[in-house]
Amino acid sequence: MMYIHYCPACHKIHMLNGHKQFCPRCEGQLAELKVDYMTYTAMDASERAELAQHCSHPEELGKISTTYRMIKYSKWYKEMQQSLNNNSTDNRS
Ligand SMILES: [Zn+2]
Repeated sequence: MMYIHYCPACHKIHMLNGHKQFCPRCEGQLAELKVDYMTYTAMDASERAELAQHCSHPEELGKISTTYRMIKYSKWYKEMQQSLNNNSTDNRS
């Protein structure tokens, strides 16, 4: 079963067999997208480019990626969440 992943380090969408956490190219943390394989393969080049564009924004990526517990507690995920919460004045420590 193929799943669609995005690597923020490569700025690239990877189609990978199974739920992968690390990029096969750079070994960085991947985000798995909600877009399923069939949907992705039906997209044309411009739609794929648009999807990759969305993924490059952490806020958009948060909306279109699935959230696994492992990813949720990763350093990368926390940093992403913190960057999203930067507008908030609530500074819990
Ligand atoms: Zn990568």
